[in-house]
Formats: sequence, C-alpha cells, structure tokens
Amino acid sequence: MKKITILGSTGSIGTQTLDIINLNKDIQVIGLSTYSNIDLLQEQIHQYQPKKVCVMDPNKAIELKNRLHSKTVEVLTGIEGLIQLATLNEINMVVTAIVGMIGILPTIEAIKASKDIALANKETLVTAGNIIMPLAKEKKVSILPVDSEHCAIFQCLKNEKKDSVKRLILTASGGPFRGKSIQELSKVTLQDALNHPNWSMGKKITIDSATLMNKGLEVIEAKWLFDINMDKIDVIIHPQSIVHSMVEYIDDSIIAQMGNPDMKIPIQYALYYPKRKALKKNAPTQTFGFMDLTFEKPDYQTFRCLELAYEALKIEGTMPTVLNASNEYAVKRFLKKEIHFLDIPTTVEYAMNQHTAIQNPTVDDILETEQWTYDLLERR
Ligand code: NAD
Ligand code: MG
Repeated sequence: MKKITILGSTGSIGTQTLDIINLNKDIQVIGLSTYSNIDLLQEQIHQYQPKKVCVMDPNKAIELKNRLHSKTVEVLTGIEGLIQLATLNEINMVVTAIVGMIGILPTIEAIKASKDIALANKETLVTAGNIIMPLAKEKKVSILPVDSEHCAIFQCLKNEKKDSVKRLILTASGGPFRGKSIQELSKVTLQDALNHPNWSMGKKITIDSATLMNKGLEVIEAKWLFDINMDKIDVIIHPQSIVHSMVEYIDDSIIAQMGNPDMKIPIQYALYYPKRKALKKNAPTQTFGFMDLTFEKPDYQTFRCLELAYEALKIEGTMPTVLNASNEYAVKRFLKKEIHFLDIPTTVEYAMNQHTAIQNPTVDDILETEQWTYDLLERR
C-alpha cells in the first residue's frame, strides 16, 4: 500500500487529496500538516489516523496537543516538523499542497530521502527549480505535477521525443478580470479578485489567477519540470478551462489534454501514476458537452505580472525568487486590504528593479534573497 504525507492537508489541494484517498481506501496517510487550522486537522486525524502531524503555528500546536490527550499521534511544529513529516521512513510519497516558498526545504529533504513528490506547491519549483530537478534526477525520484496545466503537458509529452517538441502552450482562464482595462482594474475590490469564474482554490492562487501571476509562475514551473527554454513556452487565454494545456510538435501537430475544471483529476493522476484509475465521485459531474471553446492572446500590458515573470525567467538565478517573494508579500497585503490590486505588479517590478541576480543560487542564496526582498519591501 502506498504511504504518504500531505503537507498542507487543510487547504484546497490537501482536502481534495484526502477526498480521493477516502473514496479509494488504498493509500495510507502517515503525515498531515496545517498552518493553524487545528479544527479541521483534528477531524482529519480522527478520520485518517496519521502517525504524525505538524502545526506550523507553535501556539496552535500546543492547543492541539492539549485537545488530543493521545499518544497515538505525535504533534510537531515549525519547519523542522514539516521536514520530519516529509522524510518519514515508511512513506513513499509526499504531496506538497502547502502554499509559498516555505515548501522549499521540506521538498528538498523529501527528495534526498528518496520520496516521490506529487507537486502542487509551484512556488518551490519557481524559486529552487535549479536545485530540485537535478537532485530528483540524481535520487531517481519522480516529480509528478499536480498543477492542471503541467499534468496536461506531462500527459501530452508521453511517448514523444523531447527534440520533437516545438513549444508548450499553457492555457489560462484569464481570471475574473479578463478583458478589463487598467482604468477598470483601478476600481476592483478584494471580493472581485477572489471571485474566480472556473476554479475554487486557496486565496493566494486565486489572487495570482486574477493578476495572471499564476500563469507567470507556471511558465517558470514548466521550464524546470520539462527542461525547456522559455522561448518555447507560450500562454494562451482559454476562458472555459476545458483544454488544460497543449504541446505543439515539429510536424505542426498539437496534442491537448482536456477535461472538466476539476483538480481531483490531476491530483489523482499524480497519486496513482503510472496507473490511470476511474475517478470515483461523491456526485455525478457534468461533462462540458457542447460548450464553445475559445482562445485569445493574453493582454501583457494590462496584466504586467505575466510579463514580469518572463523577464525574471530571462534573467534567471535569484530573480524568479524576487518575483515570487515580492508577489507573496504583495498578495498578503492585498488580502489584508492594505494595498490595491494594481499595487501587486508595481511592488514586484520595484523589487526586481532593485535586485542583482545571483546565478546558480544555492538554497541559502534563495532563502537569503527571499528575506532580502521582504526587508526591501518593508523599508519601502
Ligand atoms: P490553500 O491556501 O487552500 O492551502 C494551503 C495549505 O498550506 C493549508 O493547509 C495551510 O494551512 C498550509 N499553509 C499555508 N501557509 C503555510 C505556512 N507558512 N507554513 C505551513 N503551512 C502553511 O492553498 P491551495 O490552493 O491548496 O494551494 C496549495 C499549493 O498548490 C499552492 O502552491 C498553489 O499554487 C498550488 N495549486 C493549487 C491549485 C488549486 O486548485 N487550489 C491548483 C494548482 C496549484
Ligand atoms: Mg494551474
């Protein structure tokens, strides 16, 4: 039986992963983690009986320990706790469903311990792809993409030669503000930005989808996952989110992967790869039927974040870390209503302009650059 740890089990990807496990009952859950949602974690402990859990917030970890009075589950805390969960002897896979750069160290340590990775946490690959991908190769560990676009490309590339690939085409829904002008964007609220038309996701990625930073991060993620040059990665807006991405080959054939916008499909694909399993459901899903599928060019001028991501990727080194860290900083402030929607790209651009990239960064360089970015923006 496959035995796994889910980092970020109380989030959108984490809970959907557990739903799949609950419906199939053929994967054993050994480790679970949350930032501070101990009510939901407690329910998950009751249902899935993991051996260890990690609560990032130390006060909440103590509160959970007091609530549990049990010796059957060990409660850990902090980054050390996440690393312990990701490297447990008995597990063979880690689902990285945590949000943000905090995922870097647990992911690296999991790979060193030869655990396969079902990777949702894109910020990790965006910032430390140069370390993670070679390490995974060395350790013969599979990095299975959970992100729907990357899962699509992974499937489209199957049984094809790398030198036959002309380009990867990542699709983007365009988010809630597709077609809007800068003037219109200057009036949008947090509620408007959280209202994604097709996907129900965590708050951070929902805001990233509204700014198109999500697609920018995914371009960088694709570069590392598929070892492909950025000039061979294109983005196309596809508002219906049915075509999850495509690969164009040198003979001009384009192979696409399609399906309902349901994250359970790519999560399950990663959990059971290489086996394709029937998708068990709590309720019947609607199929997309005869809906029109449309495609349009992204508006790089209005949605600056996508352009900035390409720029960061061009400069490489620690620049994607600055892009990502300044975006994490700005999105946190936007979620607290401290800054406006259009301040997000401005913040990222400001940080990138101040930074001189270090090439081939080490983990320390990356983590120091993250801190440098936060300090810079705090002083601003
Ligand atoms: P979420 O906010 O719903 O959940 C995040 C999880 O991580 C929660 O369990 C939370 O408690 C935990 N967490 C948050 N901050 C933490 C911290 N600093 N330390 C420790 N734990 C922390 O997020 P999500 O939407 O599930 O996204 C998770 C990751 O998957 C992100 O990187 C996102 O970009 C990626 N992703 C998500 C979707 C989606 O449909 N939700 C799709 C593709 C990729
Ligand atoms: Mg995606």
